[in-house]
Amino acid sequence: MTGRVFLVGAGPGDPGLLTLRGADALRRADVVVYDRLVSGEVLDLAPPSAERVYAGKAPGQAAIDQEDINDLLVQRAREGKQVVRLKGGDPFVFGRGGEEALACARADVAFEVVPGVSSAFAAPAFAGIPVTHRGLAASVAIVTASGAGGEPVELHRVATAVDTLVVLMAAGRLAEVCRSLIEAGRSPIEPAALVQWATTSKQRAVRATLADLTELAAQAGIRAPATLVVGAVVNLSALLDWFEGDGRGEPPREGSLRAAHAQAPALQGAPALALSRSRSR
Ligand code: SAH
Repeated sequence: MTGRVFLVGAGPGDPGLLTLRGADALRRADVVVYDRLVSGEVLDLAPPSAERVYAGKAPGQAAIDQEDINDLLVQRAREGKQVVRLKGGDPFVFGRGGEEALACARADVAFEVVPGVSSAFAAPAFAGIPVTHRGLAASVAIVTASGAGGEPVELHRVATAVDTLVVLMAAGRLAEVCRSLIEAGRSPIEPAALVQWATTSKQRAVRATLADLTELAAQAGIRAPATLVVGAVVNLSALLDWFEGDGRGEPPREGSLRAAHAQAPALQGAPALALSRSRSR
């Protein structure tokens, strides 16, 4: 009997954001091949007897060869095992899940894809940024700051084609990314936010204009993993920044609202939004 490979999205960090189907696949796993950004609590859903294989890389070190991961998935499934390939966020969003699915398809090994909550959506959501919003943004693009071989990605084509830009893997290349977006025609005073460790108790975010973000992020010491959001919708975070680490979901206090405005004095639109909110109450 051949086994099956489940390409499971573990979500952005908070174990509560794993899907029920993902949890189910993990509970029945014989083998779990997991990445660096997968939380221990999610991994713990697999039975203690399951074989656990770490496939991530430490920063600055060489990654385990993708071919070796593909071979391992195929080999274990051929041994009749239920194999869970557990990846941060969604397996098909910059996670090389497509390559692993292709390896299974080529080897005639059955596989399933269990989508996950991508950090591309969770990071803005947990920073109080709706990626689309009536009147402000009708389109959103998810792009990477880093190409397949680690080379900078050509952002010019997409820079002005959409309202909201969500850039993954941007932390190490922030200056370059912000500069090329401005060169491509995004306004230097457009609001931008960098959200680190979104959905976890370590979550931190900085908001600034596109021109100032790099410096503020450096001052705040924000590094990977972080997601960059660019667009008018970022202004909404001054009102919607609901996540407070462990005390999640509490209504924003006056202080935190004021702090948000103070943090981003150059942002346009936020005071007007604040007014419309108090009117609607
Ligand atoms: N498949 C993943 C993305 C993998 S690329 C997904 O769908 O989320 C890794 C990048 O994701 C990081 O460089 C960072 O930009 C982003 N990322 C992952 N976890 C994050 C988190 N908790 N907070 C902010 N960004 C995160």
